[in-house]
Amino acid sequence: MSLFASQRTEFLHHSRTAPEQFTHTQEWWLPNQTQVVVHAAGIIEFIPSEYEKGKGSHVLYSCGVHGNETAPIEICNDLVEALLAQTVTLTVRLMVQFANLPAMDIAQRFISENMNRLFCGAHEPQHNAERVRAAQLEQLTIAFFAQADDPSICYHYDLHTAIKDSAYPRFAVYPFLHDKAYSKAQLLWLAKAGIQAVLFSESPTTTYSYFSSLQCSVHSFTVELGKVKPFGQNDIADFAQARTALFDLVSVDSSHVTDSSLQGATDPSLPVLFRIKQMILRHAEDFKFHFSDDTPNFTAFNQGDVLASEYDEYGALLQSYTCVQDAEAIVFPNANVTLGQRALLTVVPVTEQECTFDV
Ligand SMILES: [Zn+2]
Repeated sequence: MSLFASQRTEFLHHSRTAPEQFTHTQEWWLPNQTQVVVHAAGIIEFIPSEYEKGKGSHVLYSCGVHGNETAPIEICNDLVEALLAQTVTLTVRLMVQFANLPAMDIAQRFISENMNRLFCGAHEPQHNAERVRAAQLEQLTIAFFAQADDPSICYHYDLHTAIKDSAYPRFAVYPFLHDKAYSKAQLLWLAKAGIQAVLFSESPTTTYSYFSSLQCSVHSFTVELGKVKPFGQNDIADFAQARTALFDLVSVDSSHVTDSSLQGATDPSLPVLFRIKQMILRHAEDFKFHFSDDTPNFTAFNQGDVLASEYDEYGALLQSYTCVQDAEAIVFPNANVTLGQRALLTVVPVTEQECTFDV
């Protein structure tokens, strides 16, 4: 059996088809003096030649936490192959994680359960592959960022695509920061990457971006780059802006993510901002939305509109969920989640002046 270190190309392909090549850590140097560290199948780190221990930006791109969200997987795969082929030269320390490899193979969101509800310790007990993988991702992410001296120049973008159409096809979730201020520079960078809207989460969750934000104190976001499509069917133009931003962040001087360098950007306006108003959980087997399946994300409703209802086994109404204010919009509706999990978020617009920024 040959190890990946002897092949050094098609990392994602080998990770998916020959995981036995990745039973222990493999390290080597590329001719351009970039160090490569393969931690496990689907998890690879690049350390540029000029890297000084602890110094500079540290960037983590995770993708495929949902296995069928292919566009970010394809972008990250292109980046990894370009780095291995030395057609792109790295300027930051970078880790790329292809998270749910078995789910990619069956073109499904997950095998046993939604991996993006398994962080912050929610992977215990580890009775399926997704829980084992979530724990491994947590360990490697902590170890990766622990080597950085300054968490304020550390970044984790957990890259996804949404199931549904959206009034804002490209949007990001800013995890709950507890008492910390939001980073305006990060919102401007997201805008530059083509992100049209940002949701401020206001409570702890078990998502990957909340985990790294909380445990590693780094800038962290769940980023929805567009709509989910099968491998090979993504329109490259739809993702060009995000792809360029993700490549530029790691392969040109990363000082361009600071405020000063963004002042000259062609479009310095922030994305549209929302905060989460309601998190509606599914409690009953019989759970129904009162809007059609093809209603896009960010569709707004009015105060008093009924969004969802649940019924007991005899069809009697148990509970209804209504909008509490006008212009309350729906995001991430999914009536098929496991009982006790989030079936719907509602969001309301928030102005820049209402937010606490770090500058
Ligand atoms: Zn996703």
